Amino acid sequence: MDLEFFRKKYPFLEGNLVFWEKYITAREEVLKLLPAMLDDKVGGMGDFAVLAAKGRELLAETEISLSAEETATMAEAFCHAMGIATVTVDFGDVVPLFEELSYTVDTAGFVKTELHALICAYLEELAVGDSETGLNWLELSCPICGAAAGMGLLDASGKKNLICSHCQCVWIYLRSACGLCGHSAEKGMLLLTAEEEQDWSMECCEECGHYLKVYDMRRVVPYIINYPLHYLTSWNLDVSMQGQGYEPAFFYIFERAGWLGSAH
Ligand SMILES: [Zn+2]
Ligand SMILES: [Zn+2]
Repeated sequence: MDLEFFRKKYPFLEGNLVFWEKYITAREEVLKLLPAMLDDKVGGMGDFAVLAAKGRELLAETEISLSAEETATMAEAFCHAMGIATVTVDFGDVVPLFEELSYTVDTAGFVKTELHALICAYLEELAVGDSETGLNWLELSCPICGAAAGMGLLDASGKKNLICSHCQCVWIYLRSACGLCGHSAEKGMLLLTAEEEQDWSMECCEECGHYLKVYDMRRVVPYIINYPLHYLTSWNLDVSMQGQGYEPAFFYIFERAGWLGSAH
């Protein structure tokens, strides 16, 4: 993973790019391993539409078990690419929804939560298939892992997509409602834009007190390598929001990156 063009375009991210290069490579390495581990366990993902109609997240309805050997292989590939000592990961009998996942706030917790996110990311690939649009889900929680949104996207047709704060899965949501609490925009949502960041807007919700950064792809479709990293390119907007009374919707990776190097 070479982020050289990134370094030039966003010099303020310079200090973080060593981490992101390793992180993106580690994700790619694990994603390469997952077809062999998961394809025969999840079967017909064309059934996703059935789950969506029930409003049930994929991990709530699909029992996925991984052997100790399989999780060890994943952990080894991930840790090797991250340049850290390999840790042991155990998801229990069945890979749980994000809210039921137990983890420690340290390096081992970083690896476990990120491997869980990667399993979800691969399940999304299976569920989406060849479709170029996000999953048609219209709920506030991620259709795969159940976590909340970390960012929004307006696609080329103007539909609002939400991106999972944990597994980075993309799903379609109502344009006119808060992507974090579902509150209707007409009844109190402030839309902030900044001149220097024309393609971003911030949906500030009076109801839940959060803001969601939304990237508008209708003018330019950028090359997005990784959604959380894309979020960081408009970090100045988050800085400008400080003290305005709204909390940001965030990606968990921003917090987890700080767990690296700490022993529990
Ligand atoms: Zn998710
Ligand atoms: Zn809200």
